[in-house]
Amino acid sequence: MSRSAHPAGPRHADVLPEGHYSAPAADLNALDEKVWSRTVTRDADGALTVGGITVARLAEEFGTPAYFLDESDFRARCRAWADAFGPDADVFYAGKAFLSRAVVRWLTEEGLNLDVCSGGELTTALDAGMPAERIAFHGNNKTVAEIERAVAAGVGRIVLDSFQEIVRVAHIAQRHGVRQRVQIRVTVGVEAHTHEFIATAHEDQKFGIALADGQAAEAVRRALSLDGLDLIGVHSHIGSQIFDMAGFEVSARRVVQLLAEIRDEHGVELPEIDLGGGLGIAYTSDDDPREPHEIAKALSDIVTRECEAAKLRTPRISVEPGRAIVGPTAFTLYEVGTIKPLEGLRTYVSVDGGMSDNIRTALYDAEYSVALVSRTSDAEPMLVRVVGKHCESGDIVVKDAFLPADLAPGDLIAVPATGAYCRSMASNYNHALRPPVVAVRDGEARVIVRRETEEDLLRLDVG
Ligand SMILES: *Cc1c(COP(=O)(O)O)cnc(C)c1O
Repeated sequence: MSRSAHPAGPRHADVLPEGHYSAPAADLNALDEKVWSRTVTRDADGALTVGGITVARLAEEFGTPAYFLDESDFRARCRAWADAFGPDADVFYAGKAFLSRAVVRWLTEEGLNLDVCSGGELTTALDAGMPAERIAFHGNNKTVAEIERAVAAGVGRIVLDSFQEIVRVAHIAQRHGVRQRVQIRVTVGVEAHTHEFIATAHEDQKFGIALADGQAAEAVRRALSLDGLDLIGVHSHIGSQIFDMAGFEVSARRVVQLLAEIRDEHGVELPEIDLGGGLGIAYTSDDDPREPHEIAKALSDIVTRECEAAKLRTPRISVEPGRAIVGPTAFTLYEVGTIKPLEGLRTYVSVDGGMSDNIRTALYDAEYSVALVSRTSDAEPMLVRVVGKHCESGDIVVKDAFLPADLAPGDLIAVPATGAYCRSMASNYNHALRPPVVAVRDGEARVIVRRETEEDLLRLDVG
């Protein structure tokens, strides 16, 4: 399986024939509710609206390209996850998918916890008022300065990722006169990706401490022996854009086995396990994601069953969805600039953004949908490739899709399901100005991350 396609490429990234694409939808004007956020609809004139506002008005007020985030959908998804897992489990939103101070406030209000993996994310979380005890700090190479800040702030847990870090965090906690709550991230030998997973003994990647060869057991031994650490559990994260629960099944079984070994050796039953994130969303109509309540039931059943078999008390479960919460809640709005029909191949549609606002297509071969949104059209479907304006032929936003053949410069097109890993991975390539994120709710639109300006570029360039 191709490692480069791992964190969210298409299904069977490495076996699809070149140029594969699904047949055009029966009605190009229809908006599949699986891929669009919940308040998206077309108005009487055929223009797409979100939160009751048309894209024409949004484009006029905020410009393009821009990300529009459906706030009520975001909040509803937070509540759905929290309700599905209930009071005996914890949902941590993975901030790396997309984080801003507004998002932190919504999470705080909706009762979610938050994963951060850098000093910058920690600062954003604390600044916007997320209580420190609801924050988990992740990362395979947290700096000493980052650990200091996390411990001083009193974060709820630090997820230990290496033998060095066990000692580092213990030392820093002791210096601060606290016992830091920690989990140990283990690699269980499961790589899950969309509809497949691979279970092996070893994993060839940088995160966590291997279960294999007693490594994780040794990490537990060391963590339990250090005064500065309060070891509350074990953490496992197996992949991304996962639809099939079988990978979680194997991972939970292996983690529970470790808990049983820990009980047998040390006489302690660790109270928590974290099964990570990675739950899939619909990028195209071919994707069928599960609802949070189905996922919650599946995970809880797996853990309960494995614990009964091992005669362990069932630990408290936590999960860390990022994409599954924010991904479906936003779309990117672009203006069509140039259109180039390549005879016998496809038509290239160039938009005013590209790989600087969505790197996932170039990086992971990710699949996206696209629609003409400033109007409807009865024209025939034409096969298009939506590309950006960057100096790079791999600058592709949507590799293969259908748009109406009467598409013209000045039309607005939108790419749905861009809430996760688009703005957060955005770059300044070609000195592009990173687009704003605009939250839309109940007829009101509000910038939550403003558009970068040329002044911003020059301010960093100190000459
Ligand atoms: C990236 C990551 C997540 C979130 O992954 P999604 O695919 O966005 O759900 C959760 N936990 C950890 C440890 C991660 O690295």
